[in-house]
Amino acid sequence: MKREIPLSGQDITDAEINAAVAVLRSERLSLGPRIPEFEGEFTQRLGVKHAIACSSGTAGLHMCWHALDIGPGDEVITTPFSFIASSNSLMFDGGKPVFVDIDSQTWNLDAACIAAAITPRTKAILPVDVFGVPPDMDAIWALARKHHLRVLEDSCEALGATYQGRPAGTLGEAGVFGFYPNKQMTTGEGGMVVTNDDRIAFMVRSLRNQGRDPEGGWLAHPRLGYNYRMNDIQAAIGTQQMRRLDEILAKRNRVAKWYQERLAGEKRLSMQRIPTGTTISWFVFVVRLGDDYPAGHRERLLEKLRAAGIGCNVYFPCIHFQPFYRERFGYQPGDFPITEALSERTIALPFFNNLSEGDVDFVVKTLRSLL
Ligand SMILES: *Cc1c(COP(=O)(O)O)cnc(C)c1O
Repeated sequence: MKREIPLSGQDITDAEINAAVAVLRSERLSLGPRIPEFEGEFTQRLGVKHAIACSSGTAGLHMCWHALDIGPGDEVITTPFSFIASSNSLMFDGGKPVFVDIDSQTWNLDAACIAAAITPRTKAILPVDVFGVPPDMDAIWALARKHHLRVLEDSCEALGATYQGRPAGTLGEAGVFGFYPNKQMTTGEGGMVVTNDDRIAFMVRSLRNQGRDPEGGWLAHPRLGYNYRMNDIQAAIGTQQMRRLDEILAKRNRVAKWYQERLAGEKRLSMQRIPTGTTISWFVFVVRLGDDYPAGHRERLLEKLRAAGIGCNVYFPCIHFQPFYRERFGYQPGDFPITEALSERTIALPFFNNLSEGDVDFVVKTLRSLL
């Protein structure tokens, strides 16, 4: 029988299934008790004052831009090596993403490049914890303080990671998590905004719920809002996932270690550097082909891996090359050489909690034979 190893997969147990069924048998499918319960898991685990559940990571980011007063003409410096939602979200209200190149080793924002891109219109920095590794937040905050910039952390890929002992998500004025099924934990779809800032929390709570105020009535809407609510079925699943988070993170560490052991000494591949003082929360397992590997040959390699039953993908295509960004901002090949060289050479290998050691063995043997 031919093996089929998917790229990603969720880890749902009877605890999540029973919790979801209990909500379905209850009176409250939305705006019920499971929402504050799920939010409480985040305030406790991360040691933050506020956690606000919402319908997706993208929705959470959108509301934070609004709460941070980023609007038309405001420039936000961020990375082109990310999932598209990080920069899309800031354009919904008219903000302008200004991309800068990344560090070739950590694959994260490079503070020197940020510094060079600051203009009088710069209002914020959007650091992204790429693949579960926060960027150099000390350097980013030094720039933000000096130039009076807001800092929003896109921590959608980093639940469980730490930076100098502090949890990912708490490294900006607000942080945002996403719960799509390929993330560390899932609610099917969903997101969470975390912050210690009362004003941001107030705004996000109102915006997710049609612009209502906590004391106002159901039909009082002091401001323009959205329906970005999470429902109680999702929250019940999320609470169970959070209660299993240490187990989930341990499983992911174990799979990553199996890959690392088997790839140690493989000169044709390299991996993201994890800076000292940082604990990664494994989101994906991405390898980078060497610079001498002919750039165009990666796609052939991916096809052969897939033909062998191995799920794989390119993470990430450069955001600035997406047609919409090229048309709107005129980005050209060569604008961000480090990002582009990396993006042409990365391969995401199968990675999920219940991936077996035998399957990791098969993936690595197959990959090595094809290189
Ligand atoms: C997953 C992700 C998001 C948000 O995703 P949703 O699917 O909207 O929950 C945002 N930024 C990054 C970097 C992500 O990986």
